[in-house]
Amino acid sequence: MKFYSTNGKAPLATLEKAVVKGLAEDKGLYMPERIKPLPLEFFDNIANLSFQDIAYTVADAFFGEDVPAKDLKAIVYDTLAFDCPCVKVTDNIYSLELFHGPTLAFKDVGARFMARLLQWALKKEGKGTVNVLVATSGDTGSAVANGFLGVEGIHVYVLYPKGKVSPIQECQFTTLGKNITAVEVDGVFDDCQALVKNAFMDADLNAHMKLTSANSINVARFLPQAFYYFYAYAQMKAKHLADELVVCVPSGNFGNICSALFGKKMGLPIKRFIAANNANDVFYKYLQTGKYNPQPSVQTIANAMDVGDPSNFARIYELYGKNHAAICADISGATYTDEQIADTIRQVKAATGYVCDPHGACGYRALQEGLRPGEVGVFLETAHPAKFKDTVDGILGESIAIPAKLQAFMQGTKQRVPMSKDFAAFKQFLMAQ
Ligand SMILES: *Cc1c(COP(=O)(O)O)cnc(C)c1O
Repeated sequence: MKFYSTNGKAPLATLEKAVVKGLAEDKGLYMPERIKPLPLEFFDNIANLSFQDIAYTVADAFFGEDVPAKDLKAIVYDTLAFDCPCVKVTDNIYSLELFHGPTLAFKDVGARFMARLLQWALKKEGKGTVNVLVATSGDTGSAVANGFLGVEGIHVYVLYPKGKVSPIQECQFTTLGKNITAVEVDGVFDDCQALVKNAFMDADLNAHMKLTSANSINVARFLPQAFYYFYAYAQMKAKHLADELVVCVPSGNFGNICSALFGKKMGLPIKRFIAANNANDVFYKYLQTGKYNPQPSVQTIANAMDVGDPSNFARIYELYGKNHAAICADISGATYTDEQIADTIRQVKAATGYVCDPHGACGYRALQEGLRPGEVGVFLETAHPAKFKDTVDGILGESIAIPAKLQAFMQGTKQRVPMSKDFAAFKQFLMAQ
């Protein structure tokens, strides 16, 4: 299978190239040339299959032409060594808990899958070590660091803003050692991102070392998230609740929901989607007006969705033939202030006992407000609430428990390289590696 660029000015790429490079030469995002529909029998029988078996069928449609079955099976089974159950919250609203992976966030699956597929691609291309640079405001860094931990031939540099990530998140990427280096930048998230962008454009650095990124522009990171939606459908079908299924996705960079839309193109019978936003409402406004106007991001309590110019918009636009009406036929939107998010967390807890994290709360609320008679909704609970413990504790006025998996990170020794936000210093550091 070949991959083309959404900007249409780069040559077609092999899977290896798309995975190793991440972004196309013309700065567009790679798209698979074809999307293979899955047979009806697969959907008829899906409720009897395991998460791993479902995921392997989906992965085979995306990557099976290029990756030998034995290798692809190993990658899928290694990535999905945990469950993501659909948990009943109210009579017609279920939570798909995507926080049972190593760092308790939904990005774990994409990060691990990408690490393993990148390793495969490097072997095939016969290339030496590749260096992954990733700027993070918290969640991406921890998922990528843990996904890539111990993967041979890849070194990861996680750049994060000093004092601006939660203590738990910081421990998740500073205590690992091995092939993971944490770089503590004296600045804000945008400074970290600027350092990474400058590094990718610097000729000396690129001659010195092979660099790539690990954000959701990479096909190997965003496509595997489609597994979640097939598995959600399977679980709801087993409960005989899948006939009019609405799936609501708390969205920031729109990689997660974009993978779901690929699933729908493959025949996954989900009736419609809702993209739930915090106050960063660029996509919501696009749905209302047909105009896409990127904005500077604003800070919210659902900070993994503080994105003012979602990169995967280009993919969604391409997937629907640049047609606003077609996009609106499959996706509607919602946007919530911090106050509404906090109210929702309190209200769900009081009414049902379920504790949402700030991102999942946007998803729950959009279903509560938007489900029509006869529909059943599933929202994606994208992180464990304890990852945002200070925020959630403050809202609920109680202390929520920290799962053992998270506590284990807190016990490690923090190691990081202090760095100024000035590119010359970062370049000198990398040139010495
Ligand atoms: C990254 C993230 C999101 C947003 O996902 P996108 O794919 O960027 O839309 C939502 N919730 C949490 C907890 C996240 O970490």
